Amino acid sequence: MSAFQAPKGTYDLLPPDSATYLAVREAIAAPVRRAGYGYVETPGFENVELFSRGVGESTDIVTKEMFTLTTKGGTELALRPEGTASVLRAALQANLHKAGNLPVKLWYSGSYYRYERPQAGRYRHFSQVGAEAIGAEDPLLDAELIILASDAYRALGLRDFRLLLNSLGDRECRPAYRTALQDFLRGLDLDEDTRRRIDINPLRVLDDKRESVQSQLAGAPLIADHLCEACKAYHEQVRELLTAAGVAYEDDPKLVRGLDYYTRTTFEFVHDGLGSQSAVGGGGRYDGLSEMIGGPSLPSVGWALGVDRTVLALQAEGVELALPAATDVYAVPLGEEARRALFTAVTALRRAGVAADFAFGGKGMKNAMKSANRSGARFALVAGERDLAEGVAQLKDLATGEQGPVPLEEIVTTVKERLA
Ligand code: AMP
Repeated sequence: MSAFQAPKGTYDLLPPDSATYLAVREAIAAPVRRAGYGYVETPGFENVELFSRGVGESTDIVTKEMFTLTTKGGTELALRPEGTASVLRAALQANLHKAGNLPVKLWYSGSYYRYERPQAGRYRHFSQVGAEAIGAEDPLLDAELIILASDAYRALGLRDFRLLLNSLGDRECRPAYRTALQDFLRGLDLDEDTRRRIDINPLRVLDDKRESVQSQLAGAPLIADHLCEACKAYHEQVRELLTAAGVAYEDDPKLVRGLDYYTRTTFEFVHDGLGSQSAVGGGGRYDGLSEMIGGPSLPSVGWALGVDRTVLALQAEGVELALPAATDVYAVPLGEEARRALFTAVTALRRAGVAADFAFGGKGMKNAMKSANRSGARFALVAGERDLAEGVAQLKDLATGEQGPVPLEEIVTTVKERLA
């Protein structure tokens, strides 16, 4: 063991489990790529103000959970706690929205950082795959994104997830609702912090998970009863499109999510096998965000799915992903001459697209065969002096134990045939 440990709230991804994480990222990205989203990668840190303005001054993410640092030049930076603000910043900076092809559709995959109280499913470093459609107000686009996320979970084999859906209204109808909610909340028995929140962002009080707060919210006014006609019609279309696509959802009139920028469509995917950290992904429409960070009006919608929690959800459901074999052929040389001959064969196999590995370090036969079995390879390729004198190597099927000589120059074709 080294003198160091991974920092609190973080963990290392190591083989063989790390292969599952890669497969999950791939499975989420695949439907999004097929839908015309292009890959975007932004820095791991940004100007801190991008998040305080973009994510919201009153959110836990900004007030309590950002990892911030000051550069030697005095610039205040923050490790990114989420992806949307950065992706929108990048799109605006590159003028992607001016290329005359709206919406700009982008997807991303990467590490995010929040100074949270660590527990199962909640870490200080975690991984998300996200998708954003920037610059169009169209219920079909909201539906597209939700369908893509749902299809990704299904493609992975998940079944026990639910989609919670709400509309948060827009600048027409939300102000009146906000006032009605504030009036209601001011009559409740709440602590100092929560009272302050009533002034800054009353909707977030609905999201308070504490029983002492939830028990008082039974009669709270709900946004669903305050939506303007335009928001109502928009939301109804999204619901119809989801139903038509066979995507089941539950109306959740108290769903607000922990970020301030959402308008209209808001959704969260929860998994029932995960205990208290049940949200596996979420997103919504953020029509005002571009203006909040100094851009033009660009109505947009997006989501981020948590890779760590999706892996936990797979485990909870007992889903084993069909992962490609890490190694198809494992070479076991006996003697110096065989080391060279099989090293040449392994290189040729790899160049032909076959996953091949080698018993390095001059291991004895017994140890090398143990490594071959541990590698999960389908075949061992074994050769000693006598084999080489005959111009062959022994190809051993590790599942059946069957073994036979193969001429050295035919190894690639024979292995490819037998793997097919
Ligand atoms: P959010 O931006 O908070 O809606 O997060 C989107 C998704 O990222 C969530 O549904 C989680 O799956 C995942 N996520 C957020 N925070 C964490 C965390 N601290 N640890 C692990 N996963 C997280």
